[in-house]
Amino acid sequence: MRRKLVVGNWKMHGSRPANAELLAALLAARPLMGPGGDVAVCVPFVYLGETAAQLAAGDIRWGAQDVSPHAQGAYTGEISAAMLQECGCRYAIVGHSERRAYHAESDELVAAKAQAALGRGITPIVCVGETLQQRDAGETESVVKRQLSAVIHTLAHCAAEMVVAYEPVWAIGTGRTATPEQAQAVHAVLRAQLQAATGHAERMCILYGGSVKADNAAALFAMPDIDGGLIGGASLKAADFIAICRAAG
Ligand code: PEP
Repeated sequence: MRRKLVVGNWKMHGSRPANAELLAALLAARPLMGPGGDVAVCVPFVYLGETAAQLAAGDIRWGAQDVSPHAQGAYTGEISAAMLQECGCRYAIVGHSERRAYHAESDELVAAKAQAALGRGITPIVCVGETLQQRDAGETESVVKRQLSAVIHTLAHCAAEMVVAYEPVWAIGTGRTATPEQAQAVHAVLRAQLQAATGHAERMCILYGGSVKADNAAALFAMPDIDGGLIGGASLKAADFIAICRAAG
């Protein structure tokens, strides 16, 4: 039986006082979220230290929203997996569609980032997903399989250690979520691909992301291959994020 996982992606939001208030509310509500699921927040790099300090004594994990593929060196502005490890990060999101789109991240770069994270014991949350144009052209399956295949190929025997997040680009931040059936269909494709590559897909976590809200989370999480969610906008409001976590627990 796989555990559910709900991860908040704060993106480039937050401030010290707002973060402290949000995390305090999550910590206070954590016992009510149910024992059947894990909860994490992926915060901007600069807030990792404070997040770690505030969450250290609780049962909420934390992570980053990106990681450098390089171990160290002259890479101005980059943050290495070793640095994230020092901050106690459990997760690093890689290949988010915003980074693929605005920073031209290729499948190969995403794979290298996933490998760098795993090399430091940080679980990469590998995002895959199609644009609306690709969906309308009937390319959803080939796009997500291509994106995932690059990571599987690079991680090789460690591929079963990643978390995969299916995030249709047309559903991110748009208020238009995939139906549970649409999401499940893609999750099943991804799990079959993971099974063929690792032989351990039954224990792998595949999250859904894209306009998950308190009122649609339970139906999505009830699908057999949806193991939780990667939550953007709704992770910034304590009441909404807590309700989503409860739907998973
Ligand atoms: C995301 O950014 O990963 C995301 C899923 O955003 P939202 O929940 O706001 O659609």
